[in-house]
Amino acid sequence: MIVNYMEEIVRDYLKNILKTDPMYTDICKCEHCLDDIMAKALNNLKPYYITTKKGEIFAEYSSLETQHHAEVILEVVKAIEFVSKKPNHQ
Ligand SMILES: [Zn+2]
Repeated sequence: MIVNYMEEIVRDYLKNILKTDPMYTDICKCEHCLDDIMAKALNNLKPYYITTKKGEIFAEYSSLETQHHAEVILEVVKAIEFVSKKPNHQ
């Protein structure tokens, strides 16, 4: 099975940032907006494909370089800013 591990990382950071950053307590966090944020961030990041068996995904987490993590956080924050200002719904 091949998965884009970047997706898991982005999802993780997104959840964390929304939970801990007081700047984003009031933004819309519906499924639609979260999907839009994920898609936008992922389009700006290189995919990180790994082969895995079910349930083994998280063992790979530490193999991404620190620098890479900083880049992921930056793109997630940019995507949050963008989508929260222009939610794709009423
Ligand atoms: Zn929304």
